[in-house]
Amino acid sequence: MDNQIYIRVCETFTSLQGEGLQSGFPFFFIRLTGCNLRCTYCDTSYAWSEGVKRSVQELISLWQESGLRHVLVTGGEPLIQEGTYALMDALLKKGATVLLETNGSISLARVNRRIVKVVDWKTPGSGSGSSFFLDNLRYIDRRDQIKFVITSRQDYKWASRLVRKRSLALFTTVLFSPCYGQVEPKELASWILEDRLEVMLQLQLHKVIWGDQRGL
Ligand code: SF4
Repeated sequence: MDNQIYIRVCETFTSLQGEGLQSGFPFFFIRLTGCNLRCTYCDTSYAWSEGVKRSVQELISLWQESGLRHVLVTGGEPLIQEGTYALMDALLKKGATVLLETNGSISLARVNRRIVKVVDWKTPGSGSGSSFFLDNLRYIDRRDQIKFVITSRQDYKWASRLVRKRSLALFTTVLFSPCYGQVEPKELASWILEDRLEVMLQLQLHKVIWGDQRGL
């Protein structure tokens, strides 16, 4: 009998982490299939449905072959698959440092505390603006990051109000990322400086290096 745990995987590859505090480090990427949201600017919509079933053991072997310590579990939305928890726990057990990118709409209660989380807080301009699961704030700390993708001046104002109202910068790192093609990095930088807002301007490093290419 096959006791393996299987997950639907869109793609695996090695690249530099493009966002957040770990930006610039080489990572083994595991992009899982499926997402419960439909953001207007999604640049990985192929991950909504594309993918094949792989066992946790197979993924561990692929990571080991990569020769890298850091693993990024991303999507789509990784937490909609039950097997993701088993995968992350198995990676930790084997000595990986695990980073999880999640869209903020699903509870983080079951995510192992040793995993660093980059949690989106979707703005109104994303088209998924009311999706953030507020209870998740209990599970986010200094090692984690909350990321807002800013699509307009209105989004910026909305997000900056939230940062202040919830004192987000006091317990975690807040990233503001300009939406590619909709807000210029220069514009966002000037708004942040003008308001003396305690957030980190975030550019997508992989797009600066390789452009909008898949698997990099
Ligand atoms: S949550 Fe991420 S993967 Fe899902 S639709 Fe939004 S941008 Fe795309």
